[in-house]
Parts: sequence; structure tokens; C-alpha cells
Amino acid sequence: MEKSNYGIATQKLLTENEEGKIMARILVCDDAAFMRMTLIKILHGAGHEVVGEAGNGLEAIKKYQELHPDIVLMDITMPELDGIGATQAIRAIDPNAGIIIVSAMGHQDKVFSAIQAGAKDFIVKPFEPDRIVACIKKYFGE
Ligand SMILES: [Mg+2]
Repeated sequence: MEKSNYGIATQKLLTENEEGKIMARILVCDDAAFMRMTLIKILHGAGHEVVGEAGNGLEAIKKYQELHPDIVLMDITMPELDGIGATQAIRAIDPNAGIIIVSAMGHQDKVFSAIQAGAKDFIVKPFEPDRIVACIKKYFGE
């Protein structure tokens, strides 16, 4: 598999899949197993690689350090540490971290806090699968 450098957009080395589309390594963080499953199915369908899952903010930080994903899909409401705290911590570790918030409707104020904490974008639950795929494409400047 050939590797291409999309350095201008992301400063990261990304892999292309067989169709020449960007394949991102993604960490999925949500306390609801069903939501993680839904996201993973969508990501796999779009040719991305899910490198890990986290069920709370502390796990998200730990897995980020272990796995160095291209993108983190981050829920806000989670036990132990919420997605805003986890976003702040991950951005402190890696200022270039690509974190996309995936959060339920009615948490607009929290979404704003998350963007302030360094999240790149947000997706409101419930979402159409295309919204997830488009948001990732947008992040990579496709
Ligand atoms: Mg949650």
C-alpha cells in the first residue's frame, strides 16, 4: 500500500486505500457501546481504520497516547472525564490533534466549550452516516 504525504492539509502521513481515497486512523470515544458500534460501522464502510475505542475521557487520553490516531471522534457526556476535559488534555499533549465532537442535541453550550478546548468540528446526534464521512473529508481538506 502506497503512502502519500498530505502535509499541507494535516502535517500527517496518511494512507490511501485501494480506491485512492484517504484512509484515516480513527479513535472512537463514547460511553455508549451501541454508538461506538454505529460509528465504527460507518467508518469501516467509508474505508477508514478504527484503531481503538474508549468508553470515557480518561481512556480516550490513554488510547490517544498509545495509538496516535489521525482523528478522534469524541462524545461529550461520558463518566470519569467528559469529552471537553479529554479534548483539553489531548490538545495539551498534541496541539495538532484532530478531535471531532459527536454529541447529542441540546448540548450546544458544551459544544462551544469543546471548540474552545480545541475540537476541530462537531456533529450533532442523531446524525446521518454521510455527515460523519463528510466531516472527516473536510478535516483532510478533500
Ligand atoms: Mg455519552
